[in-house]
Amino acid sequence: MWYSDKAPVTEKKYSKSILRYFKVGSHIGLTINPYQGCHHRCGYCYATYEWSPDFYDKIYGKINAHEILETELNSWGKKSILPVMISSATDAYQYAEARFGITKRCIQMLQQYQIPFYVFTKSTLILRDLDLFRNYTHNCFIVWSITTTDEKIRRVLEPGTPSTTKIFDTIKRFVDSAIKFALT
Ligand code: SF4
Repeated sequence: MWYSDKAPVTEKKYSKSILRYFKVGSHIGLTINPYQGCHHRCGYCYATYEWSPDFYDKIYGKINAHEILETELNSWGKKSILPVMISSATDAYQYAEARFGITKRCIQMLQQYQIPFYVFTKSTLILRDLDLFRNYTHNCFIVWSITTTDEKIRRVLEPGTPSTTKIFDTIKRFVDSAIKFALT
């Protein structure tokens, strides 16, 4: 088993930077990772190698992320800010977000500075922020990550994720609100 049989613990941490460049082929973008570690515990996760060995069991919330983000947005200047991916190495709407609200504060900051962004998620907690997205449809989209519609497989492969039925219900709410999306 790649994770312990106990629920993950959550802790606060303070970060010195939050906006990071990434490169995939010829594409260069920016990403924000509000958390280190991921409660979704996907067996195939590519992100574990760059983090701590307890990636699935200890989730760190970067509690000062929105303040660092504001400082970086001011110092970088708006012209140099590319669309921001939330997130590349964690799920920004995993359960820890219900406790910390870090992703929500970062999104509010991006909206305040009129920065385009897109969110990768397989979580239903994103519904909490539906109004935020609804008011920013011109400048954001969601990438819904769905591995399988077979619940038996999902429970083994992605044991911390919501059921497929719930994620499809969530997607429908976003589609009904005219929020752009992609599926992966
Ligand atoms: S949701 Fe993404 S970051 Fe989280 S465990 Fe799964 S693949 Fe890794």
